[in-house]
Amino acid sequence: MSATVQADFGASWYAGTAAGTFERPRLTFDIDVDVCVIGGGLAGLTAAREVARRGWSVAVLEAKRVAWSASGRNCGFVMPGFGSDPRRMVERVGIDLAKALWQLSEAGVDYVRTTIRDTGMAGVRPMSGWLDVSKADNGDELEAIATLLAQKFGTDVETWTTERVRAALKSDFYFGAIHYPGAIHIDPLNYAYGLANAALAAGVAIFEETPALAIDPAGVRKRITTPLGRVRAAHIVLAGSAHLGALAPRLAETVLPVTSYVAVTAPLGERLGAAISYKGAVSDTRVGDSQYRIVGDRLMWAGGVGTWPPSTRRAVGQFKSTIERTFPQLGAVEFEHAWSGVMGYSVHGMPQVGEVIPGLWLASAFGGHGLNTTAMAGELIAGAITDGDDRWRLFLPYELVWAGGTLGRAVHQVATWSRRGSENWAASLSRRREAARRAEAAQVRPEQAGPARVAPPPVVPRQVAPPQDAPRHVAPRQVEPPEVEYGPVARPEPARVEPTIAEIASTQVPEVESLLGQVAERANRQKARRPDAQKGKTPRRTQGAAPNGPTNRTAPGGAPGRQAQAASPSGEPEPPAVSKDPASTD
Ligand SMILES: Cc1cc2nc3c(=O)[nH]c(=O)nc-3n(C[C@H](O)[C@H](O)[C@H](O)COP(=O)(O)OP(=O)(O)OC[C@H]3O[C@@H](n4cnc5c(N)ncnc54)[C@H](O)[C@@H]3O)c2cc1C
Repeated sequence: MSATVQADFGASWYAGTAAGTFERPRLTFDIDVDVCVIGGGLAGLTAAREVARRGWSVAVLEAKRVAWSASGRNCGFVMPGFGSDPRRMVERVGIDLAKALWQLSEAGVDYVRTTIRDTGMAGVRPMSGWLDVSKADNGDELEAIATLLAQKFGTDVETWTTERVRAALKSDFYFGAIHYPGAIHIDPLNYAYGLANAALAAGVAIFEETPALAIDPAGVRKRITTPLGRVRAAHIVLAGSAHLGALAPRLAETVLPVTSYVAVTAPLGERLGAAISYKGAVSDTRVGDSQYRIVGDRLMWAGGVGTWPPSTRRAVGQFKSTIERTFPQLGAVEFEHAWSGVMGYSVHGMPQVGEVIPGLWLASAFGGHGLNTTAMAGELIAGAITDGDDRWRLFLPYELVWAGGTLGRAVHQVATWSRRGSENWAASLSRRREAARRAEAAQVRPEQAGPARVAPPPVVPRQVAPPQDAPRHVAPRQVEPPEVEYGPVARPEPARVEPTIAEIASTQVPEVESLLGQVAERANRQKARRPDAQKGKTPRRTQGAAPNGPTNRTAPGGAPGRQAQAASPSGEPEPPAVSKDPASTD
């Protein structure tokens, strides 16, 4: 392992297993290209490679090192779909558009798989399958999701019963699951390096340690300033994710930086196979808390997502206790590697893909579902720039929504805790019910239930002869059966209608948007009270006006196109589709 990789990626497991290094020089001169991509993560690298493959000249500017951030530090799950629940997508944009979007997300998975194969990437080690497991006994809900995905979206999925899940993941914590055989998991750092090399091979010029300090996106030739050189380009692609910051503050305000953690255990030897025989990727929560996969004879575990100040130590402590509870047969586990990473989330959970003003493109907010969606976005934007492919317009219903600043982070964190709590509650309820069912079953099977128990006598309502003068139709009085002592048997839960996981989730997720909407509304009210409110410092999109993008063309899915916006003198796109209107967030 080179010292550079060591320094860039800290304690990451991937740093120690990198198949090679990737180093490119700084930009120290002025250049003129067709497309300048800002950001050397997976989104920027894919867009750059695809533009270059179509014969255009491209430069990538990377502030630090290629893939130093989320792209080289993630868990490596390449799954179809987005951060947003597919049912919620249907609710929001309708079945046809949701299906079209979902299929784009699957094309992202295919892109990764074929790129690995076609370029013969070293050290990526793709393995098939993703098992999305439930810790609650919600088979009907899983069946409904699987039916939507298989029958409406045409995805290759199957539902697994509790028994099948527990044969593969030997834990009483698990119930049913949805299995995605077409998903893969990979070594993301080796993939990113492989992609960067493929981009170089296609003719892309990559400059590391070259932050874009300012952009002037007005005019046909746009300008990008870096510390030691300038770039002129017909198109700029902003692929800086949660790190865009001061370069485009208003766009950056639509992205929540969310930290997540990954850790790798010490070798577990044969214990590991005895607990987990499934070789694909596993998620057992919708909150992004427990994602894991086997690497060699170790377990890679990821989760702990949050906007709170990062603490890898705290996350690792949580991982340890979760693993020991979920797989007690593993005994005490020790972690040898642990690291954190920051990803960008939009408020609605969908990526930001499209043209903000003519020639200024955005590929951002891929959240925890970025391996397939960065590939998808890179292809879409490259096709849009070079061939006028306008499928990126499918994302228009998911406009740029202000993420609430510091308060937004707090709201997001509270919502994450709340969702976590709801999931845990549903999981523990399911386990208690299962225990009650087992106890009940044990009771009716005496050979398993220990000493023979005396069955209560059948209860036959005692017929009481009505008095002679009473009317004939008086119902016989029901006599309560005698109280029989059965020993320490858990009694079934009272028949209460508990909310399903879907119901819990559907109440929680919009809550985040609605809370952020309230934050935005309050901010607007305060601004309106200030004396300079009329000066239009932060113009607000008027109701019914198109949010962002250059034209009025109609989206393929039928969504209206976006109006062109003038660039501000500062170079940053003028109120770039940032909606603070709560009503417009959903
Ligand atoms: C711990 C963790 C686990 C994850 N697990 C998974 C997973 O299993 N599956 C999955 O699909 N997704 C996962 N994700 C999410 C996924 O990694 C990200 O969504 C994806 O990598 C985002 O790629 P990106 O290119 O948009 O951003 P980044 O990888 O963040 O890259 C952005 C780059 O832009 C550069 N940049 C920013 N501003 C400038 C500037 N002004 N000038 C020059 N350069 C600039 C930055 O330096 C950075 O290198 C995970 C994320 C984390 C953190």
